[in-house]
Amino acid sequence: MLARPEATLISIVIPLFNEEASVDALMPRLFGFLEREGLKAEVICVDDGSRDATWDKIVAWRATYPALTLVGLSRNFGKEIAIAAGLDLADCDAVVLMDGDLQHPPEVITAFLAQWRAGYDIAYGVRRNRDQDSALRKAFSRAFYRVFNIVSHTPITPDAGDFRLMDRKVVDAIRRMRERARFMKGIYAWVGFKSISVEFDVAERQHGKSSFSPRRLFGLAFDGIISFSSAPLRFAMYAGAIIALLSIAVGAYYLVRTLLFGIDVPGFASLIVSTLALSGFTMLQMGVMGLYLGRIYDEVKARPLYLVRDVIGKPAAFTAATTPLPATSDAK
Ligand code: UDP
Ligand code: MG
Repeated sequence: MLARPEATLISIVIPLFNEEASVDALMPRLFGFLEREGLKAEVICVDDGSRDATWDKIVAWRATYPALTLVGLSRNFGKEIAIAAGLDLADCDAVVLMDGDLQHPPEVITAFLAQWRAGYDIAYGVRRNRDQDSALRKAFSRAFYRVFNIVSHTPITPDAGDFRLMDRKVVDAIRRMRERARFMKGIYAWVGFKSISVEFDVAERQHGKSSFSPRRLFGLAFDGIISFSSAPLRFAMYAGAIIALLSIAVGAYYLVRTLLFGIDVPGFASLIVSTLALSGFTMLQMGVMGLYLGRIYDEVKARPLYLVRDVIGKPAAFTAATTPLPATSDAK
């Protein structure tokens, strides 16, 4: 592997949604760290349509830290899309993604950078302590990764989250993926590149609360499978084929029986049960197809991934990035 020279400048992308309580702790901690390490960084905060004072607070902090670049999205688009907006703006050789609630300690960036200099394209944080997660949540996430890796062609690394450093070429690759359904773990796995894990202790959230309820997490898991696998469709087809074959066998049985023994009228129960079972199954299959159809509809509309309300600290040229980029272009 080719070692890289010292980074001259890195981009740090931070999505923020209703983080007014965290911002005042985040800024001094992050910039204090950068100063101690002698790191020059552009820090890109993406306000994901916060409904509290997050935007005003980060604008105020810009007076102290002019290296802040601020993007305000027109509404809440979700963390994944806020990250996409930040990546569209980040133009340094190495880009760090981190949460704004200080659960991702900035100090880990030093270890990320060391791996990047050693030649890795991606250094991703792996949580050392999962103790605060409930047993149920851990079991659910383990089951999800197992199922995902069976049905998907791009196996994902269970513990790799959004806290990571990516080389320019990785960021450019992700920027070319303009899909709306953004299952980040799948996207990271799909782009590939030389990756290495860096363990870190995830901190407790000090201010505010998590935006990811168990229900939202379940939705994300479901979305992830639909986005990265067509196994549910195949499964529906195989099941349909099996039932069709069975019905031929059953039909043949009744034909022979009728020819030999004549017609006996009773049979209401079997009739009603098979009608119900088959129509239920047909609707289930249509539902599965509908899921994919809905996904296609979302994507073919080709709406912009996000809309920008305000940008501070970057040339206006950025707003161009809010129109979808052609699939093969890296244009900023
Ligand atoms: N976030 C965002 N948009 C959203 C939800 C969350 O930009 O719709 C940001 C949030 O401000 C934080 C990061 O994503 O910086 C992680 O969110 P959170 O702490 O709620 O998630 P958790 O740590 O529980 O996974
Ligand atoms: Mg958090």
